[in-house]
Amino acid sequence: MAKQLGFHINSSVCANCKACQIACQDKNNLPTAIRWRRVVLYGGGNWVEKDGRWMPNGVFSYSVSFACMHCEKPLCVEACPTGAMVKRADGVVLVNQDQCVGCRYCEWACPYGAPHFNEAKGVMTKCNFCEDLLAQGQNPACVDACPMRAIEFGDIAELRAKYGTLAEIEPLPSAKITQPHAVVTPHRNAQASGKGTGKIMNLPEEL
Ligand code: SF4
Ligand code: SF4
Repeated sequence: MAKQLGFHINSSVCANCKACQIACQDKNNLPTAIRWRRVVLYGGGNWVEKDGRWMPNGVFSYSVSFACMHCEKPLCVEACPTGAMVKRADGVVLVNQDQCVGCRYCEWACPYGAPHFNEAKGVMTKCNFCEDLLAQGQNPACVDACPMRAIEFGDIAELRAKYGTLAEIEPLPSAKITQPHAVVTPHRNAQASGKGTGKIMNLPEEL
């Protein structure tokens, strides 16, 4: 089978610095409100008073950096009525803006919220795996920007052989929906997708 590109996301070391998100915005000259890559802080628990002292009660938090997962079963491609959203032979999912009519069906279909509508241009935009950098043999901008080396990319089969097949933790959706080309190394406090007791803790303007 031809090489299929994907990401390894190492939530166990992610520091929530958002360098990956900013590098992506900078590289792709995105408006500040459009974030192809997002870093979500997920946490929960509370504090209880005991013998006059406040004690943590199951307090936890961790971060997950994610963008388009360049899925095996890309619902965005299935939903697009014009054929503008395509999956390339190497697995990269791209939007051809010349064919995009701005209906936003792909945005509604994607469980990751990966396609982002550019109001000014009236077309959909999304992570393109830094295809221009890949063509020059370079890494995607998010990969190089991460000071924790929490993002890796490559052939998804090789990434799975190296890191396992987990592709979902809270607050990511079930991997069964689109079969993402991603592997997640969970944080020690990670909760199972769909069974979490916490919530997304980012400020609204960060999402
Ligand atoms: S993450 Fe969303 S936009 Fe990306 S390939 Fe999967 S369904 Fe499509
Ligand atoms: S740059 Fe790395 S450590 Fe910082 S938020 Fe992104 S993935 Fe996490």
